[in-house]
Amino acid sequence: MNYQKILEEIQIQIQSELPKGEVASYIPALKNVQADDFAMSIKLLDGTSYNIGCFDKKFSIQSISKVFTFAMALKLYGKDLYKRVWYEPSGNPFNSLVQLEYEKGIPRNPFINAGAIVTTDSLLSYYKNKNITFNEINHFINSLCKKEIFYNEEIFKSELESGYRNQALASLMKSFKNINNPIKDTLETYFKHCSLMMSCEELATAMLFLANHGVDPLTNKEFITAPKAKRVNALMLTCGHYDASGDFAFHVGLPGKSGVGGGIVAIVPKKMAICVYSPRLNEKGNSHTGTKALELFTTLTELSIF
Ligand code: GLU
Repeated sequence: MNYQKILEEIQIQIQSELPKGEVASYIPALKNVQADDFAMSIKLLDGTSYNIGCFDKKFSIQSISKVFTFAMALKLYGKDLYKRVWYEPSGNPFNSLVQLEYEKGIPRNPFINAGAIVTTDSLLSYYKNKNITFNEINHFINSLCKKEIFYNEEIFKSELESGYRNQALASLMKSFKNINNPIKDTLETYFKHCSLMMSCEELATAMLFLANHGVDPLTNKEFITAPKAKRVNALMLTCGHYDASGDFAFHVGLPGKSGVGGGIVAIVPKKMAICVYSPRLNEKGNSHTGTKALELFTTLTELSIF
């Protein structure tokens, strides 16, 4: 298949539409982006890349980082992790508090904020100290994308100062004894991995292990076992876009994970990983144009898993 031509076709269709949505502003530093940027990268299992737009421009990966931290926590704790975070779609916004109250501080899944704060807390308990924990997360991602990546201090601080809902989520879960470390350390680690900066090409490369049963096809290194890779993909499909996960499955039909920085990663099992970036978000907090581009991709290639 001529993937480069397909990317070009997608870009033409995307650019023929009027821009829709707004860039995230609830974390003030996230506003400092070019709203109409567009990029898309495809990485095949044999290492071939296809790119379009500003594919090497770094952006804040935000919730896409939850895929890496969930994979790490699942690797360390196995099924025990599900005592602290379930694997059901929430049907609620990414930062919602409501279910936590009557579900005794157990978040519905690791991809909503509450669930990702718990997986980060579990990593912190394992590695003991917040700097080591962040370095381990960084190292896990570096080895997947084969490049050194860094977090953005301004975005990190901005979220630290304005993250009232995340503080509320962590405090509520702490009251149910589902946060085992000081809230400050857990949240700092969580905000730091959310503020990691990566390009579309780096993210597509880093997600390739999930298209290949947990093994990086470029180095043959197993990052997680095949059954665990299956779980990560299943949760990306059912929970990767918050209360729009059904909509994403319906229109795109791939396991995917979005971030409020405007990125979306998607997996075509046994074939490729894809990343798209376009920072204007729809009302559910997912990239408007990114979703559209992935929908066009599965329509033009017939590569939806359904
Ligand atoms: N750091 C963001 C938050 O906690 C992540 C949200 C997202 O990307 O969906 O609000």
